[in-house]
Amino acid sequence: MIRQYDLVERVRAYDSKADEGALNRAYVFAIKAHGSQQRASGDAYFSHPIEVAGILTGMRLDCATIVTGLLHDTIEDTETTLAQIGDLFGDEVARLVDGVTKLSRLELQSDQTKQAENFRKLLLAMSEDIRVLLVKLADRLHNMRTLHHVKDAEKRRLIARETMEIFAPLAERIGMQAMKDELEDLAFSELNPHARDSVIARLDFLREQAGDPIPGIIEGLEKTLAEAGIKATVLGREKQPYSIWSKMESKNVGFEQLSDIVAFRIVVDKMEQCYEALGVVHGAYQMVPGRFKDYISTPKSNGYRSIHTTVIGPESQRIEIQVRTAEMHEFAEFGVAVHWHYKDQSGKLRRREGRQYRWVRELLEILEHASGPEEFLEHTKLEMFHDQVFSFTPKGDLIALPRGATPVDFAYAVHSEVGDSCVGAKINGRMKPLRTELQNGDQVEIVCSQTQAPSPTWERFVVTGRARSRIRRFIRLQRRAQYVDLGRSIVQKAFRQIKQRFVKEPLDRARARFRHKSLDDLYAAVGEGVITGRQVVEAAFPEAKLKTQKAMSQAGRRARSGKAGDLAVPIRGLIPGMAVHIAGCCHPLPGERIVGIVTTGKGVTIHAIDCDALESYADIPERWLDVAWDIDPKHPEIHVGRLTVVITNEPGTLGSLSNVIAKNLGNINNLKITSRSLDFFEILVDVEVKDVKHLTNIIAALRATPAVSSVDRARA
Ligand code: MN
Repeated sequence: MIRQYDLVERVRAYDSKADEGALNRAYVFAIKAHGSQQRASGDAYFSHPIEVAGILTGMRLDCATIVTGLLHDTIEDTETTLAQIGDLFGDEVARLVDGVTKLSRLELQSDQTKQAENFRKLLLAMSEDIRVLLVKLADRLHNMRTLHHVKDAEKRRLIARETMEIFAPLAERIGMQAMKDELEDLAFSELNPHARDSVIARLDFLREQAGDPIPGIIEGLEKTLAEAGIKATVLGREKQPYSIWSKMESKNVGFEQLSDIVAFRIVVDKMEQCYEALGVVHGAYQMVPGRFKDYISTPKSNGYRSIHTTVIGPESQRIEIQVRTAEMHEFAEFGVAVHWHYKDQSGKLRRREGRQYRWVRELLEILEHASGPEEFLEHTKLEMFHDQVFSFTPKGDLIALPRGATPVDFAYAVHSEVGDSCVGAKINGRMKPLRTELQNGDQVEIVCSQTQAPSPTWERFVVTGRARSRIRRFIRLQRRAQYVDLGRSIVQKAFRQIKQRFVKEPLDRARARFRHKSLDDLYAAVGEGVITGRQVVEAAFPEAKLKTQKAMSQAGRRARSGKAGDLAVPIRGLIPGMAVHIAGCCHPLPGERIVGIVTTGKGVTIHAIDCDALESYADIPERWLDVAWDIDPKHPEIHVGRLTVVITNEPGTLGSLSNVIAKNLGNINNLKITSRSLDFFEILVDVEVKDVKHLTNIIAALRATPAVSSVDRARA
């Protein structure tokens, strides 16, 4: 345990103006407050806050943060009150201790909802003051270092998993590489000790076999740089077992020599020297193409800056090198904590800090749009584990996105409205599909249209939480609007069937009966199929129940006869995933007679009037709904017609089939061979067409094709 005098000396070593009195008082206060409490190790409890404070001095944090480290468990675990802390140590410390305490209360909840909720609070707390997170991370680090003392194996795993999934990525996000490495390694040894042992055994084996090449490489690099007149320190650091393991897992690569897993660092004084040193190294050793990255001109989103390159060394081994200034090096190790070293520095650092917190704000924004905490956690984890891809707007603004991001993600990153209205994208000057994966350095121009709306299919390929939550939100609202429209038409129709006027008073009666707040809510419930039109009418006119029943069953019969009259509900603008669906069994097309079947919670499914599937609804007329196509001939929609085609088994017949369809402006969107014999193939072809007439044309053209022996609409 660090003694009182040592702790104060450590702080004084980097901050001569530190408030020694406060440090001494906090040290004594922690010991008194925790009294005889014990840790799982059998040590006195107060050793823990003192070690945490020690870790914080290692990051050279300001006095208030060190005092907070000493006091961080007093509110939670002792009789101490926040008011006492405020009186004795001032408002700043009280606020920090309060933040850390709130987080501690949330820890170790195994179920996903609670874990996500905790994470949300963690973000909120740190967006107020990032030092809360720094204390929390130091606390977690000490708990991980002493994790082996905890007897309950289940609890150990839980803590280790939380460390791996939340705290290590957070440490990385704020640029604290050293913290991230140690947390990961400690969690790794709990979660997968065998994997860790095997990596370490491999390292030992290589060291034994060929000796340690690292000192020789360092010497060589130092000599080369010195001869060119550049003053530099060269460091070599073996990668952590966990990062080696996860690289082997994800990229499916092994390592053959120790130099494969060592990152060498050339640390110089000034930024210009980084580029000079790079030139010298590239002059002396052959560089490996495709491995060069300049994070000085384009820093990572967590603020990390360095030049990365890989060269072929004297023993023809690949050497990975990072070139950076001392300041960049410090930032790479301590990240955001660096800002608290020099509290009285001005503007320049603060601006960088602002950018630092941008991702916290972005996460909070996602949070506001996410429907539940699980959805939020899913985004956050995904985002934190992804690498970054850098792309540019036509004006040259940099947009950093997770790897795998598409133009849709890009559009939402620029602005939600750009995302909502994007129809296409030009990547490096050429039109590309919206699902295209962006590459580093791509210039992306988003094409927008006022009539466009987000498509539910986008959700399948976007990778940013921001885009996904906006799309989901849009669909939720859109679907609700469709349910309301549909429900209103259904209720309106029901009123006309029993010859009642569609006015407020009876509608309100029905609304009250079903306990809905607004008429829209009532309509949405009808559109969704939770309440039937008949139930609404019965609630609106309780006195005329019998008459209603008669009229409604007549209506059901009429719907089944397919004579959609002026009472029919209009069908247009079909979007997959919305309130109205086209049945997969019969694929009805505009121009054909259709009927709707209401399904609870799913809205309406549209069938062709002669579809066999309708048999099973014969006895439930209240689920039938009169519907009619309502397509604007100027803006035809794309619908899918399914054909069963029998073709002769000869070379080139499939080719002529697709040719005929293409010539008639149909687009094949799916094709499946259902049976084959020596002479014939039977295939199912899904063709995108405007309407039934369009499909009939294609059928006729196919029948005129020699290779085709028969064509029919497929009605499963
Ligand atoms: Mn603690």
